[in-house]
Amino acid sequence: MPELPEVEIVARRLDAALAGAGVESALAPGMNVMKTFDPPLEALVGRQVSAVRRVGKMPVVEFGDLALLIHLMSAGRLRVFGKRASLKDKVSRVLIRLGDGRELRLREFGTKQRAWAKLLPAEAVAEDEMVAGLGPEAWPPPPLADLAAAIDKPRHLHPLLRHQKDIAGIGRSWVDEILWEARLSPFKKGSELNSDEIGRLHAALHVLGDAIDHYEETIGPEVPDKVPMPLQVHKREGEPCPRCGTTIEAVYFSEHQTNYCPKEQTGGKVLKDRRLSKLLK
Ligand SMILES: [Zn+2]
Repeated sequence: MPELPEVEIVARRLDAALAGAGVESALAPGMNVMKTFDPPLEALVGRQVSAVRRVGKMPVVEFGDLALLIHLMSAGRLRVFGKRASLKDKVSRVLIRLGDGRELRLREFGTKQRAWAKLLPAEAVAEDEMVAGLGPEAWPPPPLADLAAAIDKPRHLHPLLRHQKDIAGIGRSWVDEILWEARLSPFKKGSELNSDEIGRLHAALHVLGDAIDHYEETIGPEVPDKVPMPLQVHKREGEPCPRCGTTIEAVYFSEHQTNYCPKEQTGGKVLKDRRLSKLLK
């Protein structure tokens, strides 16, 4: 799933590629992909792309005073293609055809149709429930006091940091990297952190900026569907911790996993899956 650094690089590359491009037609072959009907998607015809930006994990494509707010969910991708897609292409959700022959395409892989888009007056994006309800952006890092307030909740850090209403932009991959960088257990509760730990967590958010810098250096004008992510611990169970050499461990959930260094994050304790089965009951 694209998280803050991946959506940021997509937005930057699309902004560079599309600014000024005129819209020839716009259609949504995806069933129920458009969550708004007024203005209709056809209102984009004749307009130009003015900017592409990111809010949380959501790309926003601006067309003057209209904006397309997109939620990629887990399998959606936003990309520009040199040629137009066949209308039989099952992965197409939104097709924005440009006058120069290119096409901006929201595609979604897999069987579930969960990605969505809203066409809104540009000034209404900030008030949209999906945007207004977001916590502070994880990058650039919020002021320390804002982060402390956002995570002062009696919930485990792993789900808490991924909860967009508490802090925006972090998902299942980068949460592991941030907690490893901060040397904090994924099962520590937000409200249990002392000021030193909050400081470490705040400092650790630099991994998101580092990832964006890495993408700036390694990704060309076109962002691939699957971005090679510079991850150190996520899905690296069995490998040595890059800092201390201890074997990276994993706790598995039904649809995701968390990886950590037991020496540096959980006081040497290896968390058993027993704990998981209890949590699920
Ligand atoms: Zn370690």
